[in-house]
Amino acid sequence: MQTKKQPKQPQKKPEEQKTAPQRDYSQIKLFDIAANLSDDRYKGVYYGTKLHEPDFDLVIKRANDYGVRKFLFAAGYIEDAKDSYNLSLKSEDFYCTIGVHPCRAAEPFKDSNEKQSSNDEETSTSIHNNSNSNDESHEEEERKGSDPLRLEKLDLYMKKIDEILSSSERKDKYLAIGECGLDYDRFEYADKDTQMLVFPPHFDLAQKHNLPMYLHSRSTQGDFSQIVKENRHKFPTGVVHSYTGDLQELKELIEMDLYIGINGCSLKTEENLEVVRQIPLDKIMLETDCPYCDIRNSHASAKYLKTTFQKVTKDKYKCGEKMNKDRNEPCSMIQVAEVVSQLLGISEEELMHHAWQNTLKMFNLKE
Ligand SMILES: [Zn+2]
Repeated sequence: MQTKKQPKQPQKKPEEQKTAPQRDYSQIKLFDIAANLSDDRYKGVYYGTKLHEPDFDLVIKRANDYGVRKFLFAAGYIEDAKDSYNLSLKSEDFYCTIGVHPCRAAEPFKDSNEKQSSNDEETSTSIHNNSNSNDESHEEEERKGSDPLRLEKLDLYMKKIDEILSSSERKDKYLAIGECGLDYDRFEYADKDTQMLVFPPHFDLAQKHNLPMYLHSRSTQGDFSQIVKENRHKFPTGVVHSYTGDLQELKELIEMDLYIGINGCSLKTEENLEVVRQIPLDKIMLETDCPYCDIRNSHASAKYLKTTFQKVTKDKYKCGEKMNKDRNEPCSMIQVAEVVSQLLGISEEELMHHAWQNTLKMFNLKE
């Protein structure tokens, strides 16, 4: 008898129910400090192949529906920073950064490398017989960054960033210098010496423009916090975004009065979760680092999720209600908040309030 009285579920379009926001998000304020929306995937392009129409506006709307009010488009090199800046002009709620990501640390030397290799060829043919030892020492010199040509190239690149900042019509759009730092998990993009060479000049830019630092650190065995410590007097404040380090590094960063950005990658393992539990409430920021770092079912954080999104693979994606499995979006900020609030033992509202206030304070923004 009971079953007859109950309305049949399928008549209620269960798909729509699941994808629509599951609560009132109008009071929620989230600031995604790592929305890489200049990425090709928001133009519908995946590894060089166009699979759907650009859907940036839809991605923003979906994020707004889930309480994301402001967005920081982090940049990794000059061309990327130009894209991020142009995107940031589309709304007063959009902002950007400018700097060289550790995985892009080879960027300032790209032209010189090409020229250098052709010069090397000429040199080695002209002094072919005794060129070996010279080549080795030159390579070593170049690798360590003591090669004057290399230093000159880096200096030129950093000056270009300085000029972009100084001449910008909307300098207020640039919230920080970065993203920059060290990444020892991905030497295939830039070796350690190149990263170590490119990171420190960013602090001088922050000093000159009185901007916070937007930092990245991966498996750096203390090198990252050492360099930050040496330069801490040069910049007002900063955030280490996408934090995946251990408790020791966290302690050092907090002692330097830095903020810590948490996304799905910061919440993969039980060890990660234990570190996040130790972040002081007045130092925490939330982010997605989209299109990367979504929370997956295999992650330690998955058991804390309340909100779920329906997703389809990139080839089936239709720019509609269902999300795309092959890229993260800022709307998943709510999932990060759900996990982190439970780890800290506070309500989602309290966490989101603190993260919002911390973010405005650090980037020197008004509501
Ligand atoms: Zn990063």
